[in-house]
Amino acid sequence: MTKRIVLPLVIFAAALTGCDTLARMKDTATATAVDFIPRTVDKKIGELASLQAEATLDSVPPAAHAHLSELVEALLRVVELPGLKPTFRVTNSNMPNAFAFPNGSIFFTTKLLEIAQTPEEILAVAGHELAHVTERHSMQQLVTRAAFTVVLNFVVGDVAGLADLLNTGSSLLNLKFSRDHEREADAVGVDFLGKAQLPHRGAAAFFQRMKEFEESNLATQETMKYLSFLATHPQTDERVAWAKNLPPDTHIKVPEPQRKAFAEIKKLYPLPGKVPAQK
Ligand SMILES: [Zn+2]
Repeated sequence: MTKRIVLPLVIFAAALTGCDTLARMKDTATATAVDFIPRTVDKKIGELASLQAEATLDSVPPAAHAHLSELVEALLRVVELPGLKPTFRVTNSNMPNAFAFPNGSIFFTTKLLEIAQTPEEILAVAGHELAHVTERHSMQQLVTRAAFTVVLNFVVGDVAGLADLLNTGSSLLNLKFSRDHEREADAVGVDFLGKAQLPHRGAAAFFQRMKEFEESNLATQETMKYLSFLATHPQTDERVAWAKNLPPDTHIKVPEPQRKAFAEIKKLYPLPGKVPAQK
């Protein structure tokens, strides 16, 4: 057995067990395995997987995509994603959610834009989603799922393995991240905000907002099942507490052009029950 196939075997062995220590070993091994996969694979899988979300783009006014992109643009300048060009767009949905594909295609739902009340909240979610891409969490999930055969094919250079993985890519929308990945995305997202000289205080506000949504009668059992932003995230209370413990940053302001972009978003997606402001 060559050294090159030892790593996938370790992942496979760990995947067969439910033991915590081995599960953690599996996470580490998976992350290492993903390091061997070129970013061009993230790009291909992401392009395929985001087709479904992209099919809905026309139902959203072009201005919505443009304003969202403007609001988050500073974040894109602080991330390094060779070969990938992250994009932020809006998709029509009654569920407040945001999701990221491995190619950097990130979507905010219209309901999330309705519920958010400050630009800081949108920025916090954007940082979090971007972190899922930079840390390659979807790829890690796919590698874990595809387990032994596909990883082995990759490592030994069998391109058929890529086709299998691409097929799996179509189910990315239903993919759930582990709590560890969510915690990591929270932390890395806050780091990106700091580098972009943007405030992170929106994280606490937004988690609180989602908690209110969770507890309100707007959130049925059915919608909660699909809320990837909440469902497998660490407990909302834990996240609110974590975000509230971050260093105060009231001295950091969202620049005026981005505040205006947010105001334009709110004209399109006012808080439920509110009449849009007249021009
Ligand atoms: Zn997440």
